[in-house]
Amino acid sequence: MSVVLEETRKIEDYLAMPDEEIASRIESAKRELGPRVIILGHHYQRDDVIRHADLFGDSYQLSVMASQTEAEYIMFCGVHFMAESADILGKDSQHVILPDLGAGCSMADMANIDQVEDAWQQLKEIGVVSEKTKVAPITYMNSTAAIKAFCGRNEGVVCTSSNAVPLFDIYLKEFEKMFFFPDQHLGRNTGAKFGIPLEKMVVWDPHKDLGGNTEEDLHNAKLILWRGHCSVHGRFKPWHVDKVRADVPGIRVLVHPECVYEVVQKSDLNGSTSYIIKTVESAPAGSKWAIGTEVNLVNRLIKRFPEQHIQLLAPDLCMCATMYRISPQSLAWAMENLLDGNVVNEITVDDETKHFANIALGRMIKLTEKK
Ligand code: SF4
Repeated sequence: MSVVLEETRKIEDYLAMPDEEIASRIESAKRELGPRVIILGHHYQRDDVIRHADLFGDSYQLSVMASQTEAEYIMFCGVHFMAESADILGKDSQHVILPDLGAGCSMADMANIDQVEDAWQQLKEIGVVSEKTKVAPITYMNSTAAIKAFCGRNEGVVCTSSNAVPLFDIYLKEFEKMFFFPDQHLGRNTGAKFGIPLEKMVVWDPHKDLGGNTEEDLHNAKLILWRGHCSVHGRFKPWHVDKVRADVPGIRVLVHPECVYEVVQKSDLNGSTSYIIKTVESAPAGSKWAIGTEVNLVNRLIKRFPEQHIQLLAPDLCMCATMYRISPQSLAWAMENLLDGNVVNEITVDDETKHFANIALGRMIKLTEKK
């Protein structure tokens, strides 16, 4: 089918519609489009959007699952880098749609390809990256397609929060150093699991020469961590852990490794979103959990497991504001445009970037399959 990019429906018309009408329009468009469209709902997505999703999961899982369907259209209720990943991993015949282009990821936006190329060049000029010193660039899934491609070109790899540990294990043995983008906390927390001392982990600030480090620091470092973070997980503080332990005797603290090092160190358990869900699913009735991750996910766990005591680690809302940009209204607008034959907000990655990003993703898959 040819893709018409002209938009015939206006999002403004959807904003004033009652919630029930929006929900029924989405469901009706789903029925009419049938298997031609698949709606993906990220774990952090709001309830009034997730109720329409065909598949749920984290960003990598969703992209893989969508690529295994015959759907022509992948409606990604997530954020921009996730839609890019779906395009990279999807079939050539599939089109990926992000219902609201304002749904970015503040962490992914903290590293752009020009800054990363510039950093790599600076490391070459001072001999940290050289024929003799092997440095592996590793990027978290939460990064732009261009940075994934950079890693693909330079013997590097992509990792998720689920497989960062096995990939660090391999790369720490084969390379002298690693340059980790864009989440300094996931990098630091994973490095700490391998006993790398904090003084061997330096932070690269893209706004400063040599990332704000001395040449000596960079030569001595084992891990160079890009100065990026998740604004949602960054809101959990060590005092939240102390307070919840004092308030609820016997409670266990379970956090995502995007939280700061001090929070992860104080927690009982840490791991990816899938790990958090599985841990709660397999816990006995009466278990008590304070969970440090996005609030929509925690609220759904509270509803699913009323026989357990589950609460958000922080007393205030820790919501992913950019994910929240995907609304039932924008989903209805994108779905009904599709019914009219208009593909709006299509996310495409150019062929060269796709090729090298797939190399980095392919390494991740191959290396973690072996483990
Ligand atoms: S929770 Fe954090 S890392 Fe995840 S999409 Fe939102 S801002 Fe990005």
